[in-house]
Amino acid sequence: MAHIKRIDLTRDVKAHEDAYREAIEKVCRETAFSGGKYADAFDKEFAAYVGSKYASGVNNGTSALHLAMLALGVGPGDEVIVPANTYIATAWGVSYTGATPVFADCTPDTWEIDPSVLETKITERTKGIIGVHLYGQPFDYAGVREIADRHGLFVVEDCAQAHGAQFEGKNVGTLGDLACFSFYPGKNLYAFGEGGSVTCEKEEYYKHIDRLKNQGCDVRYYHDEIGYNYRLEGLQGAVLSVSLKYLPEWTKRRQEIGHRYIREITNPLITMQHHPENTTPVFHLFVITVPDHDDFVKYMADNDVECNMHYPVPCHLQKAYANLGYKPGDCPNAEYLAAHCVTLPLFPEMREDEIRRVIELCNAYRQ
Ligand SMILES: *Cc1c(COP(=O)(O)O)cnc(C)c1O
Repeated sequence: MAHIKRIDLTRDVKAHEDAYREAIEKVCRETAFSGGKYADAFDKEFAAYVGSKYASGVNNGTSALHLAMLALGVGPGDEVIVPANTYIATAWGVSYTGATPVFADCTPDTWEIDPSVLETKITERTKGIIGVHLYGQPFDYAGVREIADRHGLFVVEDCAQAHGAQFEGKNVGTLGDLACFSFYPGKNLYAFGEGGSVTCEKEEYYKHIDRLKNQGCDVRYYHDEIGYNYRLEGLQGAVLSVSLKYLPEWTKRRQEIGHRYIREITNPLITMQHHPENTTPVFHLFVITVPDHDDFVKYMADNDVECNMHYPVPCHLQKAYANLGYKPGDCPNAEYLAAHCVTLPLFPEMREDEIRRVIELCNAYRQ
């Protein structure tokens, strides 16, 4: 059997080549390259998909997080609580403003930010909390919101891995004060390059983000504050409008494969993420833990299946944040996960024989 990749985007690009090509050619003919008609059209479609009042397309998910922090007034001297178990960009947005990310551990079973540790992290400098719907699994929004409300803090959702997921029947991206999405290739919805979006309900936030991403101006050449060039490219907007049409189908496929793994992988050496009943995950990544993850990844590679790890170093122990003084043991659940995680192949275009092969290999491991 042929090599099974962790993710293979070429199958989607090939399957929908004509639609993508047509969208790209349209932008080129009209030279609507930076922001403009196709970026604006995608914003409207994406807001409708998420169910948020506003969506503002930006050049990537990291910029979305940076702008969300700026719109909420985060700056030097402030602290924002973020999970230790996430992709590092969740913390970058905080650091870019001159504020300090404060890392909180995850729960031992959902691997998401643990509401029960948040109060030990709150100081008089704390402005808010960023929760991450990690691997496509919504975090405990109700638990986080309750603590945030008690202390007058904002909640931002990092939805970079969770397009279409739901918490208690509500779409992620409509819950927090602001929500940030990424369209990096490989995310559930992806651009042909880089892209991101900030969604929100408040016009004030939307307008501010729109100005900040556009060099700080509402009227061209009149700059009311220091801005950024964080606009979404027209080509990406046009491509995203095409792929957004396929997203519900892709999500369904991810969920089918995810639930197959949950039902059919029965090896007692393998532990899976817990998916609480009040949530609908979208399986961006299918992460498991095993006693020796290097050994497991090698075993899969020897059998022609590519796996990787999300993430091998938790944020609080990254060199970039050495100055913050965290030590091993500060976030034990995130550290356990980093030391034991493996990500199995999962993408919408996986074929039946490939799914079966991954399941068989998992069940045969050291049995
Ligand atoms: C991908 C990702 C980001 C950053 O998005 P980019 O578009 O790559 O800048 C932020 N947070 C999480 C959780 C991500 O997975």
